[in-house]
Amino acid sequence: MSSSAYAAAPESARPEIRNEYGLFIGGTWCAPQSGRYDVTIDPAREEPIARIAYGGSDDVARAVRSARKAYERWWAPMKPATRAKYLFRIGRAITERSREIAVLESIDGGKPIREARDFDVPTAAAHFFYYAGWADKLEWVLRAGRRPQPLGVCGAIVPWNFPLLMAAWKIAPALACGNTVVLKPAETTPMTALLLAEIARDADLPPGVLNVVTGDGATGAALVAHPGLDKVAFTGSTEVGREIARALAGRETRLTLELGGKAAHILFADAPLDQAIEGVVRGIYFNQGHVCCAGSRLLVEESIFDEIVARLQQRIDRLRLGDPLDKNTDIGAINSRSQLERIDELVRSGVDQGATLMQQRCDLPERGYFYRASFFTNVQSAHRIAREEIFGPVLAVMTFRTPEEAIEKANDTPYGLSAGVWTERGSTNMAVAQRLTAGVVWCNTFNRFDPASPFGGFRESGFGREGGVHGLSEYLA
Ligand code: NAD
Repeated sequence: MSSSAYAAAPESARPEIRNEYGLFIGGTWCAPQSGRYDVTIDPAREEPIARIAYGGSDDVARAVRSARKAYERWWAPMKPATRAKYLFRIGRAITERSREIAVLESIDGGKPIREARDFDVPTAAAHFFYYAGWADKLEWVLRAGRRPQPLGVCGAIVPWNFPLLMAAWKIAPALACGNTVVLKPAETTPMTALLLAEIARDADLPPGVLNVVTGDGATGAALVAHPGLDKVAFTGSTEVGREIARALAGRETRLTLELGGKAAHILFADAPLDQAIEGVVRGIYFNQGHVCCAGSRLLVEESIFDEIVARLQQRIDRLRLGDPLDKNTDIGAINSRSQLERIDELVRSGVDQGATLMQQRCDLPERGYFYRASFFTNVQSAHRIAREEIFGPVLAVMTFRTPEEAIEKANDTPYGLSAGVWTERGSTNMAVAQRLTAGVVWCNTFNRFDPASPFGGFRESGFGREGGVHGLSEYLA
């Protein structure tokens, strides 16, 4: 079993895809107790890629036991500089196998190969390198006088939009601090987490330091419910984040939640418009809009509204939608049928509520889950498309007259993950950015990431920070 995309990939970058994958526990592959396997699908071709073990609560318990043993026997007592060597090795292996990993990420998730190759994979490797450098300098993370101690066993639960990168965001700092990890990838994108397990084994990471238990929401819930966890690091929807917070209430288990967003992208009339349009396009259509911090609400100063709408339509008509493995593709496949249906339902609600829909003029492939780059005008703040996270290539364009109105509209959301401001004036940029309730504010750019800079939200976008030195303190007692 494997998708025909496999044959289409250049020979030098063909990932080895097995028919069936077990769970990675205690440094070896093992069968799930239940004997159940689910199939992961290539969303661009609607073809099966491989059969993936379904982890139940017994498997989760086995993984937590193995992580505990590894924590006590090997990983926590190890010299920090030695731990760093393993992280460097993993970072190097990701870099060496980057083409193969990028192809796998693209086939399993539907994202354009160019993005997987130029963003997901190198940024994941960069996190391992960055945190490897911190492993023997942890006394600088906490306030003076506090001795840094690892927490113990961490459960890491990740979504499907950046499968490898979200895993790296959690595993690299956790391991650098001396913790061990049980990783639960998303059900639709397990492939690169399994490849990461193979990389960890090839790097001679001691058995049990990293365990990968594949499965669905019930597997994640079993992991959260396990009393042997010292920390849960979750990235995913606000709804599931709330459930996890409830499940952990009254327990000592530490928790960080990276949840949804509905970012405002504020565009002043004096902004450098050529760059700003590119920023807006990257802000919403990158990874088909499957991005928690996507700039999904565009607030345009009224005087340039007509010009921006005309330029946006021209620009989306030039985006190439199609085979994610084609390096010229800008818009790949939507990750799953259910996500496609959710996008479609929200777009129909926008039309029904009176907004005007503009879409990329192009043909759709005959097979696969695809959605045209789209934007709405005539949007009101109360419309669902202005309030709910669509998690697809759909932008809501609104206007403002004064900076005050822009700030008010930008903050009129239950989320608080990210925002963007475009203006030629540095003073406006700083003054507006300071008043936005968002964990990250990009000025005259959007969707830029670096392992050294912290990322995380306020309000319904969660709490805790990943990345940078802030990300380390989340894994230390
Ligand atoms: P999701 O919440 O449905 O699933 C995320 C993960 O949680 C999956 O691995 C899933 O199997 C697991 N899960 C589901 N139910 C669970 C439960 N009851 N207990 C424990 N685990 C459970 O989210 P998704 O649809 O996979 O991802 C999209 C969401 O992720 C969006 O809302 C997006 O904004 C968010 N996201 C946030 C960030 C961030 O850094 N803030 C980054 C990427 C994605």
